[in-house]
Amino acid sequence: MRVVLLGPPGAGKGTQAQIIAAKVGVPAISTGDIFRANVSGQTELGRKAKTYMDAGDLVPDEITVAMVKDRLAEPDAKAGFLLDGFPRTIAQAEQLRESLAELGHRLDCVLELVVDQEELVRRLSGRRMLVDGQMVQRDDDKPETVRHRLEVYREQTAPVAGFYEGEGLLSRIDAIGEVEEVTARALAACGADDTGQPTSD
Ligand code: ADP
Repeated sequence: MRVVLLGPPGAGKGTQAQIIAAKVGVPAISTGDIFRANVSGQTELGRKAKTYMDAGDLVPDEITVAMVKDRLAEPDAKAGFLLDGFPRTIAQAEQLRESLAELGHRLDCVLELVVDQEELVRRLSGRRMLVDGQMVQRDDDKPETVRHRLEVYREQTAPVAGFYEGEGLLSRIDAIGEVEEVTARALAACGADDTGQPTSD
């Protein structure tokens, strides 16, 4: 199964990506995680991405697309994947469609996690992650940067949902509620049951 998970910062993409991917049996590929790993590893890619990330801006498409292409070429992604945080612009969505088409593949479903703005701000300001045994706030979860990331989402990424709607691939998922409820809604929208197996119909 080839799945794209869309949704604003704070919608719970990372959490759902891990659970859904494990159930379906495909790797969860998060561009945000790959960038963060490169920043902490102080790689060339991390150095290029850091300034954009700290400002809450998108990393330029050419850098991001090349990175995703490389990742999708790895053996574990051959039979399927779940993309979290990519595509985030129409240009990225078009490039993804092209790269998949070259391999004779296409996406099976695109899920948009929908959460209202107030809830997003509330979730993001309280969010912490575990680093070296300590709970810390992500640099880009500071209130001013959060506001800017939500703006970037509205302007650049929300149109990606429209792109996939036009392709007949989009399902909008209510992402408020228990984690398991949201997972069940997402799996159902991709034609799978609660265990990730395809529903026969
Ligand atoms: P969130 O969904 O909470 O905003 P992510 O972990 O997905 O966080 O992304 C963090 C940052 O990494 C983004 O603000 C952006 O700078 C960069 N990034 C991640 N994915 C992409 C992408 N597809 N295109 C451009 N930049 C990206």
